[in-house]
Amino acid sequence: MSELNVKDFMETIIARNPGEPEFHQAVQEVAESVIPFINANPKYREAKILERIAEPERVIMFRVPWLDDKGETQINRGFRVEMNSAIGPYKGGLRLHPTVYLGLLKFLAFEQVFKNSLTTLPMGGGKGGSDFDPKGKSNNEVMKFCQSFMTELQRHIGPNTDVPAGDIGVGGREIGFMFGQYKRIRNEFTGILTGKGLNWGGSLIRPEATGYGCVYFTQAMLKFKGDSLKGKICVVSGSGNVAQYTIEKVNQLGGKCVTLSDSSGFIHDPDGIDAEKLAFILELKNVKRGRIKEYAQKYGCEYVDGKKPWGIKCDVAFPSATQNEINEDDAKTLVKNGCIAVGEGANMPTTPEGVEVFQKAKICYGPGKAANAGGVATSGLEMSQNSLRLSWTREEVDQRLQGIMLAIHEQCAKYGKEKDYIDYVKGANIAGFVKVADTMLDQGLV
Ligand code: NDP
Repeated sequence: MSELNVKDFMETIIARNPGEPEFHQAVQEVAESVIPFINANPKYREAKILERIAEPERVIMFRVPWLDDKGETQINRGFRVEMNSAIGPYKGGLRLHPTVYLGLLKFLAFEQVFKNSLTTLPMGGGKGGSDFDPKGKSNNEVMKFCQSFMTELQRHIGPNTDVPAGDIGVGGREIGFMFGQYKRIRNEFTGILTGKGLNWGGSLIRPEATGYGCVYFTQAMLKFKGDSLKGKICVVSGSGNVAQYTIEKVNQLGGKCVTLSDSSGFIHDPDGIDAEKLAFILELKNVKRGRIKEYAQKYGCEYVDGKKPWGIKCDVAFPSATQNEINEDDAKTLVKNGCIAVGEGANMPTTPEGVEVFQKAKICYGPGKAANAGGVATSGLEMSQNSLRLSWTREEVDQRLQGIMLAIHEQCAKYGKEKDYIDYVKGANIAGFVKVADTMLDQGLV
C-alpha cells in the first residue's frame, strides 16, 4: 500500500466536506503531525485509521422551535456531532452562538477526540449546539430555547452514550434548564450533562477547570525551561468562563493579568486584574450579562473598541475567546514584544500562519487540545463522581486536575521532543492519535 501524503489526504477531505474551512484547518493540522507517524507505522495506514477518524460516526441535525417573549415563533437549528466513541461515550460541549453551523461543530468534535484521549480518561469525542444567540435574550427565552433543544437531543444522549457539557454561550444557567427538561421527559436522574450545579450532581472545580488547567499546563511548559509564571505579565482575551478562571489561577501563582476582552473590544489595566476586580467581572458577565467596556468605566482604565489585546506587551498570552483570534500579524507582534509562552484556553485560537510564527520563534506554544483539556478532564471526574454517587472535595478534584495536566504535558514531551525544544502540536496530535487508533484496531472495522 502506498504511503499517505498530506496533500492527497486533504484533497479528499475538502471534496467530501465542502464549505467547512474550520474543519479543514483542524484536520490539516493533525494530518501534518500524524501522517509521517502513520507512514512509519503501516498498521494504521492499512486500516485507514486517519480516514475513519476524520468521518463522524454520526451527525444529528434538528429543528428547535420556541416562542419568544412577544409570543412570536422562532426557529433555530440544533446539532450534535458524535465523532468517535472508540475509548468511551461521546463527550464534548454545546455551543450557542449565531456563527454555529455543521462545519464549526465538526472541527470542534474532531479536536475533542484527540483532547479527550490525552486526558487519560475514557471519553470519546463529540460536540453540539445551535445558531441560537443568547445575547439580549431574557431568562425566560433562554429557558424556552433550552427546553425545546433538549426535547429533541434527549433521545440521542445518555450517561453511557453521549454526555454533553458547556461551551461558548452555555454555562450553569443553560445546563440547568437542559438538565431539568431531560429529567422531566425521561423520568430519570442521571449524569447526562456535566457542568451541573453543586446541589444536583455537579463537581467542585468544574467551573474553574478549563482556566486553571490551562494555567497549570503553561506553568509546566515554563518549568521545563527552568522558568515560572511568577512575576509574568499576562494578556488574556475573552471574559467568559475560561478567561475568568485563568486570571484567578495566574494571580494565585504570582503573575499579573492586564487585559480582558469581548466581541466588542478589550480593556487594558496595567495595575493588574486582582481578586476584587475579578469579582466585579464575574458579576458583570455571569449575572448582569454586561459588556467589558463597563470594567474600564468602573476602574478608570483604557478601553479599546473593536480591537483584540495582542498589541499589549506581555510575557505570556492566554487566548480564551474563540477560534482564529490570533493571526500571523498578531503572532509576530506578540513575539516581537517578548512573549515567551502561549497557553490556548480557547479551541484553535491561532491560525496556521500564527502557529508557524510561534514555532519558528521556539516559544512555549501549548495548543488548545492539550492546554485546555482540563475542562473536559474535570467533566470526566464529574461523571466518575456521578457513577459513584459521591462528591469529592475541592482539594481532591484540584489535585486530580493538576495530575492530569502534568500527564498531558508528559505525553506531549514523549512524542514532541526535539533537540532543545518540545513541539507541543506534534506531541499532542500523535499522543492523542495513538490511543484512539490502537483502540480502533482492537475493535475491528467499526
Ligand atoms: P463563554 O461564553 O463563557 O465566553 C466566551 C468569551 O469569548 C466571551 O467574552 C465572548 O464575548 C468572547 N467571544 C466569543 N465569540 C467571540 C468572537 N467571535 N469574537 C470575539 N470574542 C468572542 O465561553 P467559554 O469561556 O466557555 O469558552 C471560550 C473558549 O474556550 C471557546 O473557544 C471554547 O470552545 C473554549 N473552551 C471552553 C471550555 C469550557 O469548559 N468552557 C473547555 C475547553 C475549551 P461576547 O460575550 O461578546 O460574545
